[in-house]
Amino acid sequence: MVTINENYGKLRGNYLFSEIARRVAAYGQAHPEQRIIRLGIGDVTQPLAPAVIDALNRAVAEMGTAEGFRGYGPEQGYEFLREAIVKEDYGKRGCDVSADEIFISDGAKCDVGNIQEIFGQDNLVAVCDPVYPVYVDTSVMAGRTGDFNLRTGSYDKLVYMPCTEENGFVPALPDRTPDLIYLCFPNNPTGAAITKDALQEWVDYANRNGSVILYDAAYEAYIAREEIPHSIYECSGARTCAIEMRSFSKNAGFTGLRLGFTVVPKELVRGGVSLRDLWARRHGTKYNGAPYIVQRAGEAVYSKEGKAQLKEQISVYQENARVIREGLLDAGYTVYGGIDAPYIWLKTPAGTTSWQFFDQLLERVQVVGTPGEGFGAHGEGYFRLTAFGTPENTKEALERIRKL
Ligand code: PLP
Repeated sequence: MVTINENYGKLRGNYLFSEIARRVAAYGQAHPEQRIIRLGIGDVTQPLAPAVIDALNRAVAEMGTAEGFRGYGPEQGYEFLREAIVKEDYGKRGCDVSADEIFISDGAKCDVGNIQEIFGQDNLVAVCDPVYPVYVDTSVMAGRTGDFNLRTGSYDKLVYMPCTEENGFVPALPDRTPDLIYLCFPNNPTGAAITKDALQEWVDYANRNGSVILYDAAYEAYIAREEIPHSIYECSGARTCAIEMRSFSKNAGFTGLRLGFTVVPKELVRGGVSLRDLWARRHGTKYNGAPYIVQRAGEAVYSKEGKAQLKEQISVYQENARVIREGLLDAGYTVYGGIDAPYIWLKTPAGTTSWQFFDQLLERVQVVGTPGEGFGAHGEGYFRLTAFGTPENTKEALERIRKL
């Protein structure tokens, strides 16, 4: 008899973004005359850069010729892309990463969850709180947590590392040593960044305890300050304790095209087994999830024109972040993030929960954001706005919020 994965039954009923969509749709239906501005979901709005489109067109044309046609691609992704990543993302920052440690994929979201398949069932997982919900949901589905505890607002058997105003939204080393530690910097949702010294402490901690850090660097392109590391491999000893995931979604607008990669260093060994070799056997080997034409588009991100065009795109989002941050500060809000990240994390007014603030913004000024509670118990009392809107919408949203 077929049985189902009962861990799915532990997932919370309403996924954050479905609940937001439901409330926005209900409001929109009741008030069709109102123009709603969405600064909620972390999707980009600018079109793909011309260098990326040219690369796509060239690759499509190639696929229609006898000489240029490609079938199944290499398991880890095409060498042209992995070499470009090694040179541009790692070599230029003095990180020791080689092309055979890079695994191309169809995006970081898949990798951050799927990476768990190479680890044993009984590993203890640690996540930041608040957190990008995918780390938690995939841990639940993989059976590495207990039930959702309504009293604490968290899953049993999962180590939550509070990220608060007091610690600058960078968690303290946990008392109970986890096996797998999800870290994400620059952070979604808080917009916090981590200094190299602070990250080095995590690397040393993981090496001391034999833990593995799963480092999500999806927002590294937004780092503005010199002292903030772009990769965990800028820290010494990271090659024996860290896996890094990256995405082309937020630096190059590939949220719909889909491209990302994971780095698993050869020195990363647990139980005498190379994690790199295990990941090489992951689901979807052979196809690696990213089509040839998309990998060519990814290569173009590192071309001279691509780099210049994307710098321009990112600077538009960075300027949006500045507009939101400074506008809110000026209006008297307490605001975090938005300097090295496209997310602004504001404190909701005293006595207002994050969902109440969501409803106020929607109903009174027709602006959609994301309630902090949706990212975990320590997200309550906060609210996330994203810098991915158009500059016009972002400015207008701020003008409206100031009138609240
Ligand atoms: N990691 C973090 C922290 C994110 O916020 C997101 C998307 O919002 C992703 C990964 C997903 O990236 P991708 O589009 O490459 O799947």
